Amino acid sequence: MADLQGKVALVTGAAGANGIGRAVALRLAEEGADLIVNDLSEDATPRKGLPNVVREIEELGRQALPVFADVTQADEVEEMVQRALERFGKIDVLVNNAGAPAGRDRVPVVELEEEAFDFVQRVNVKGTFLCCRAVARHMLQRQGGGTIINISSTSGKHGVARFAAYCASKFAVRGFTQSLARELGPYGITVYAICPGLIASERIDDMAAVLAPAGVDATEHREQMIAMAIENSALRRMTGQRDIANVAVFLASTQSDFMTGASLTVDGGVHMD
Ligand code: NAD
Repeated sequence: MADLQGKVALVTGAAGANGIGRAVALRLAEEGADLIVNDLSEDATPRKGLPNVVREIEELGRQALPVFADVTQADEVEEMVQRALERFGKIDVLVNNAGAPAGRDRVPVVELEEEAFDFVQRVNVKGTFLCCRAVARHMLQRQGGGTIINISSTSGKHGVARFAAYCASKFAVRGFTQSLARELGPYGITVYAICPGLIASERIDDMAAVLAPAGVDATEHREQMIAMAIENSALRRMTGQRDIANVAVFLASTQSDFMTGASLTVDGGVHMD
C-alpha cells in the first residue's frame, strides 16, 4: 500500500479506453489521490474516454477535474495548471503520459518526412518539457516536494527499425528526466521515467495499421505483434496497463524517493536492463 491520501495528481493523455493514462489515474485514485485528468479535445483525438475516467475516479470516492488541453501549447499547459491549482490548491504528482499517435513516423529513416519527425518530438518531448516546467515551478514555489513521472518506453532504451522518430523522442525523455532530477532533487522533488513494453492499448491498433506488411491486414498483424511480445517476455504475457500503473503508484509514494532519476523498464522481462 502506498498511501496517497490527500495527494493531488495530474495525468496527461488519459482519455484512452485501454490507455496507460487511464490506468495510472485510476490506480492513483485507488490509493487516495484526487486527480486532474487531461487529454486533447474530443474533436482532436479519437480517444473519447475522459468523461468515463472522471466517472470511474468519482466512483472510487475521489475527486476528478477533466481538462482538455494540448500539451504542446505553452499557454494551454499554463492554463491547465492554473485550473488545477484553483480547484485543488496544489499538485503533488505529475504523470506525463500524453504521446503522439503512431502514424506516418513509423517508416524507414530514408522515407521519414520532416514534419512527421517534428510532430513526434513536439508531443513527446516538448509536451513533457512544458508540463514539467509549469508544474515544477509550482512545486518549487510551494516548497512541499513532489514527484514527476515521465512515460518513456523500452523504445527509449533500445533502437527499433522504423521507430527512429519515436525512439529519438523517448530517449530524449529519459535524458530530460535525469537532468530535471538533478535540478529538483535538492528541493525534495523526485523525477522518474517509466519504460513500458508493448501494451494492448488503442495505440497498438494504430501501430498495426501502419506497420502491417503488404498482404497482411492490420488485425492479423496486431495479433502477430502481441504473440511476439508474449513469446519474448520472461513471464510469457503482455505488459498490462495495471503493471505500469502499479509502478507509477510506487514512484508516487515516498518508498521510491532514493531512486530519483531512474528509468524503470516494465515489460515482463523482455529487456533486462
Ligand atoms: P494512447 O494513444 O491511448 O494514449 C496517449 C494519449 O495521449 C491519447 O489519449 C491522446 O489523445 C493523448 N494525446 C496525444 N497528443 C496529445 C497532446 N498534444 N496533448 C494532450 N494529450 C495528447 O496510448 P497509450 O498506449 O496509453 O500511450 C500512453 C503513453 O505510453 C505514450 O506516451 C506512449 O508513447 C507510451 N507507451 C505506450 C506503449 C504501448 O505499447 N502502448 C509502450 C511504451 C510506451
